[in-house]
Amino acid sequence: MPTPLQIENRQLREQLKQLLEQARANQQIMQRYQEFDLQFIGADSFKDLIDRVFDTLSAASELDVVTLTLFDPDHEIRGILQDLRIDLSSFPNLIFLETSQQMGWLGSRLQTPLLGRYHAGDYGQCFPPHVLEPASIAIVPLRRNRKLIGVLCLGSLDHGRFAADMATDFIEHMASIVAICLENVINTERLKHIGLTDRLTGVNNRRYVEQRLLEEVGRTRRQGYALTCLYIDIDHFKKINDRNGHQAGDLVLREVAARIKAEMRLSDALGRFGGEEFVALLIDAPLADAMVVAERIRASIADRRFALADDNALDVTVSIGVATLVSPERSQALEAIGERLIARADTALYQAKESGRNRVVGLGPAGELA
Ligand code: GH3
Ligand code: MG
Ligand code: MG
Repeated sequence: MPTPLQIENRQLREQLKQLLEQARANQQIMQRYQEFDLQFIGADSFKDLIDRVFDTLSAASELDVVTLTLFDPDHEIRGILQDLRIDLSSFPNLIFLETSQQMGWLGSRLQTPLLGRYHAGDYGQCFPPHVLEPASIAIVPLRRNRKLIGVLCLGSLDHGRFAADMATDFIEHMASIVAICLENVINTERLKHIGLTDRLTGVNNRRYVEQRLLEEVGRTRRQGYALTCLYIDIDHFKKINDRNGHQAGDLVLREVAARIKAEMRLSDALGRFGGEEFVALLIDAPLADAMVVAERIRASIADRRFALADDNALDVTVSIGVATLVSPERSQALEAIGERLIARADTALYQAKESGRNRVVGLGPAGELA
């Protein structure tokens, strides 16, 4: 017969064992928290974070499908990412919507995480047809400063993986870390974007064009297509400023930039190079094709008068120098090849000015006039 003391002792030992097991389980949960936190906090760019959200989360939490929806009312985030040449089509599970209202019923239910069986009618927007259809799901709102910035959707083929009565602290903790990291990397991309954008005209700046030129010269060398540079300069811009004021000059600069851009392909690059000078890089464009684009740009500026703020209108023209690069030498540095291409476009521009302005002059690879 055990004595009361022995019984109490055994009970105490039993309790101690349970407490230790609980502590060990908690420690494992904390470690998982920390591993997730470190993975996400370590991301230093938008692309990196999105990769980690999809890869780490799916693998570490044994999920069958993860999607992320971001709310981007003015297309600002998408615009920045596109300008920074981040290919969004490489993230099929990343969905952009203007607002949560576009999610209908679900949009109004995003105060807390939603866990349970999957119903295509209710949650189909989070799991579009091209992703795997889950059996159970957790739909987790992402908030920053009480603002809903997106929704993280976790899906499993196991019906019992997510149920309405499950604790959500781990999921909520992870969502708050993902939300902070998202805000952080988006701000980083915003800063990068500001550093490569011309404030007056909203097109890219010289630094961007110079960086991009190196990339494109490299690509031209690898892939063997033609890269064409347009050097565009507004004619008698000093007179426009002198006669109409600096503000009218600024308006002309913005409008010229917009008209040039409207004639270019999305994959081409346009930068304000200096005062009233723009450089455009036309990718995969032989001289003859580029001459057509340049002529279209020239005409789009000369053929339509520029409306000023005081109901006046102004005639504006540009001169354009065009130079093409085909199969650059492998032995030469990219910088030197790029600089020479711009210098040749500048020479062509000089000839366009000399021969009367409001015209396009092209120089072929061997320096011959187009
Ligand atoms: P050309 O036909 O030979 O190119 O003559 P131009 O008058 O256009 O050329 P010039 O280089 O003599 O003058 C450029 C002018 O651009 C002078 C400068 O005051 C003006 N400018 C440069 N940056 C800005 C700007 O940001 N805003 C405004 N309004 N004017 C600018
Ligand atoms: Mg000039
Ligand atoms: Mg000029």
